[in-house]
Amino acid sequence: MRVAVVGGGAVGLVAAADLAERDVDVTLYERDELGSGATGRAAGICYDAFAGELDAAVADRALARYREWDLLEPCPYVWAARERGDETAVRGQVAEMQSHGRAVERISPDELGERYPSLRTGGIEAAGIATAAGLLDPDAVVARLADRARQRGVTVETNAPVSLVGPTAVETPSGRRDFDAVVAAAGPATKPLVADAGVSLALKAFRTQALVTDPFEETLPSFYDATEEFYWRPRGDALLVGGGAHAADPTDWDAEADPAFVETALGNVRSATTLDPTPDRAWAGLCTATPDRDPLVGRVADGLWVATGWQGHGLMRAPAMGEFVAERICGTSPRIDAPLSDRFDPTRFDGEESFDPLGDPTADW
Ligand SMILES: Cc1cc2nc3c(=O)[nH]c(=O)nc-3n(C[C@H](O)[C@H](O)[C@H](O)COP(=O)(O)OP(=O)(O)OC[C@H]3O[C@@H](n4cnc5c(N)ncnc54)[C@H](O)[C@@H]3O)c2cc1C
Repeated sequence: MRVAVVGGGAVGLVAAADLAERDVDVTLYERDELGSGATGRAAGICYDAFAGELDAAVADRALARYREWDLLEPCPYVWAARERGDETAVRGQVAEMQSHGRAVERISPDELGERYPSLRTGGIEAAGIATAAGLLDPDAVVARLADRARQRGVTVETNAPVSLVGPTAVETPSGRRDFDAVVAAAGPATKPLVADAGVSLALKAFRTQALVTDPFEETLPSFYDATEEFYWRPRGDALLVGGGAHAADPTDWDAEADPAFVETALGNVRSATTLDPTPDRAWAGLCTATPDRDPLVGRVADGLWVATGWQGHGLMRAPAMGEFVAERICGTSPRIDAPLSDRFDPTRFDGEESFDPLGDPTADW
């Protein structure tokens, strides 16, 4: 079987290597450089703190593979809420996560303060901690996944923008090529890509931002403030701080961070910690959204497959979801014993839906 994978982000790279491992002849097309989309701009937080059974199963598999590939640096992930009454919600989430075998527990603000003295815990009403979580370095992920793909025989073509001239026919810079199947893992560009083959996807883009601070000495976990809607992760001896989201036109968006974001992000860190950070660099990137916040992964036409719509969680899920695509295309039994095909079926929408790509931002991160 000959398969074209369109998109050299984490998802396309994993799918390509996993297909090649199953004796498929794979060509991966990336319009720029590998990792030049959302993957290279990601914060790199990776956790299994999901309350849903299926999400927990995906995260479990993804984390296991990142560990196997030596790409996951252990780092606890703390999520905290500052509103009265959130204690019950956090207790419920933790119980659900534990029932799916996740290594999470509730942690009191006092205990949090003892463990991380530079964290201001005064306003925190409730918190959970995921101890099996970790950190990814997006550049290292791309390099490792690209090596893995090439070692398995994938032909990787960069600076190679492609379009579809049919579900399994690709117009490449060197001419038309026909395949037995095409996987479109092109981030927000997946929608216009498959539109050329007559498929309408329920997919939108949103823009989100991050910055890296100058170095400091204190130890902090990865942290998500569910009330103020911002997050950070340790990055070397600095912090990577992110948050905020705006609907964006994927053909016309600003990859530079907004000055207002930088100010807000640094202010958030000052309120939540004893640190007084200064920015080293900041940037923006595009994420993909769907009407129900679940991804679009599966077949949309004979021989044409999509894998997108990660709602800001694509890097942490890539090892599991790229593998899932390869299993589906090859018809091998799925590693994850859960009904992923139904829930992520891209044809559950007709593509005409009107929806807010930001939805309820507190549902993620
Ligand atoms: C600021 C920020 C922070 C984030 N933090 C996290 C995080 O901590 N954890 C997490 O899990 N996720 C995070 N994400 C989300 C994550 O980055 C994405 O969900 C994930 O990288 C998506 O991977 P992908 O392979 O599907 O898409 P992408 O990485 O976007 O790859 C798609 C590729 O397709 C290529 N392409 C597009 N059109 C064509 C074409 N016609 N021909 C050839 N190639 C084409 C693009 O150039 C691109 O390289 C973050 C995102 C941002 C922006």
